[in-house]
Amino acid sequence: MDISTAKQKVLFWAKKAYDQMLFAGTSGNLSIYLPDFGVVVITPTSVRYETMQIEDIVVTDIEGNRIEGRYAASSENPLHRAIYKAGLAKSVVHTHSPYATSFAVNNCSIPLVLIEMIPFLGGEVPCVPVVLPGTDDLAAGVVEGIRGKNACLMGNHGVVAIGEDIETAFIRAEYAEDAAKICKLAMIGGTIKPIPADLEEMMNQRIRKRQSK
Ligand SMILES: [Zn+2]
Repeated sequence: MDISTAKQKVLFWAKKAYDQMLFAGTSGNLSIYLPDFGVVVITPTSVRYETMQIEDIVVTDIEGNRIEGRYAASSENPLHRAIYKAGLAKSVVHTHSPYATSFAVNNCSIPLVLIEMIPFLGGEVPCVPVVLPGTDDLAAGVVEGIRGKNACLMGNHGVVAIGEDIETAFIRAEYAEDAAKICKLAMIGGTIKPIPADLEEMMNQRIRKRQSK
């Protein structure tokens, strides 16, 4: 993928996230890492999604130095870059989507309550402790928390979903919100019953078998 295509994708998925109410106001951000070019293509800070244009999308190097774009990169760019430097993904979607973020405000994980959480999210969605946004401390905590998972929560803050491409990272952010919503609704109805560990393991075996074919 070239830089121009990545910019178009970042704009398309940012607007989609806003339309789907995964982003509100100017919150949330997403990016694509292009290792062949050594660049991160990322949403700008404090620009409204309704009016965002292709010229607003920011290109930085892996150290965060701006190469293209008229605005500064998202203030959470250290988090995105830390995930890329750790080799965990090639796209990051960060949202404050309300149901998933409500678990982050409770500072607890989204329990494994739905089968689709296993393939899409890697099981339960863990929550890392709250620290100052935009810092290397936050980035380091998320890199540890999300390792071996596809998404995690940041305490009192929001959701991070990762993938090898933006389409995958995005659907994982959607599933984190969907699972959180269903779980919160189920909690109103009574005690929730998480999926037992042995069933999760059987599902993981099935996924591994499918992947090896
Ligand atoms: Zn945030």
